[in-house]
Amino acid sequence: MKPSGPIPPDFKIMDDELTIGGKVASELVREAGDTPLFVYSRDIVAARMEGLRKAMPERLKIHYAMKANPFAPLLEFMSELVDGLDIASGGEFVMAREAGFLPREISFAGPGKRDEELKAAIKAGVTINLESANEARRALDVASFLSVTPRLAIRVNPDFEMRGSGMKMGGGAKPFGIDQAQVADVAKEIIAAAADWRGLHIYTGSQALDAAAIIETQANVLSLAAELSSQIGAELPHLNMGGGFGIPYFDKDQPLDIGAVGSALSEQFAKLPDILQQTEFAIELGRYLVGEAGVYLTRIVDRKVSHGVTYLVTDGGLHHQLAASGNFGTVVRRNYPVAIASHFGAEPVEEVSIVGCLCTPLDRLADNVMMPRAEVGDLVAVFCAGAYGASASPSAFLGQGPARELLV
Ligand SMILES: *Cc1c(COP(=O)(O)O)cnc(C)c1O
Repeated sequence: MKPSGPIPPDFKIMDDELTIGGKVASELVREAGDTPLFVYSRDIVAARMEGLRKAMPERLKIHYAMKANPFAPLLEFMSELVDGLDIASGGEFVMAREAGFLPREISFAGPGKRDEELKAAIKAGVTINLESANEARRALDVASFLSVTPRLAIRVNPDFEMRGSGMKMGGGAKPFGIDQAQVADVAKEIIAAAADWRGLHIYTGSQALDAAAIIETQANVLSLAAELSSQIGAELPHLNMGGGFGIPYFDKDQPLDIGAVGSALSEQFAKLPDILQQTEFAIELGRYLVGEAGVYLTRIVDRKVSHGVTYLVTDGGLHHQLAASGNFGTVVRRNYPVAIASHFGAEPVEEVSIVGCLCTPLDRLADNVMMPRAEVGDLVAVFCAGAYGASASPSAFLGQGPARELLV
């Protein structure tokens, strides 16, 4: 037997069924037309934001990293809640504009930005987080071709990284950011070229649940930002401090203590060095804001026993939920939180393996979990599906097509 991950506490039962946003799962499926279906709850996202605002210093801006979930209605909803948006492609820029974000609220990071992407973003007034010295020169060239003043910041590849981070994106050789030792020279070049100097972006990792590790990283980020600003010889207008706030996906994962993170950050803000006194600070979060607000609903299409193992075969799978299958950056496959949505209140009575409909042994949604009795036609819920689900899975694989999505 392998445990299921922890089901986020926000979900309720009605008539033995899972409810999301006040509606039972079967009704949501009817509304959407069919399974497989992602449902995202506005209430859960809003509550997340409210808790975060309460915990964090007022001075701290909160940005949404849209790669976590770019579903248009959700993005529109986010535009009312957050202070800024982080994008990582020209395609995301188009979606961000359609969702109502203003170019001034947007910053654009990510390696391999093409000239056309730089052109569109610089022309509109988006802040570019430069990923290399070469990209800095290309951005300046694009801006002079357009005769506009570009808003430029530098993404730093720091020498340190966040302890215990799920996916490491800083420290040592990386395709992301400019090595910290080279930052001052590039910044001086940008400032000398009369660009609008927008400051630094220091991103050190993702999916951290340990408040102490985040607190330590944020302190390191602030001292690095102060050190680099002194080297550059200019005050820092803006510091994107990264994010990396995680959510519990697996058994024994404990939710992040944001109260502890917020009070430590307030203390840091109270004793800032002079060069950071006027700086505007932001964090950028993806999964923490939207991950637990999403549920992936699939229907059981077959029930079979093979060599003593009971399989529930669903109409969903890794083509929509790659992360739950364990094929998106995890070393050891563990079970995401899963449940039988149509018997959400029932006691677990049998051990089953829940699989998808793809003809590959990689397509597993839950291994050897205890579940209530479920039959063909019942609905399975995979939780923590609000981030890196639909848009981060290979939906063209095996011709199954994309999932439906609903914001409630
Ligand atoms: C992916 C990414 C994020 C969001 O990460 P989460 O783990 O979803 O919070 C934020 N910033 C950058 C630069 C990223 O690449």
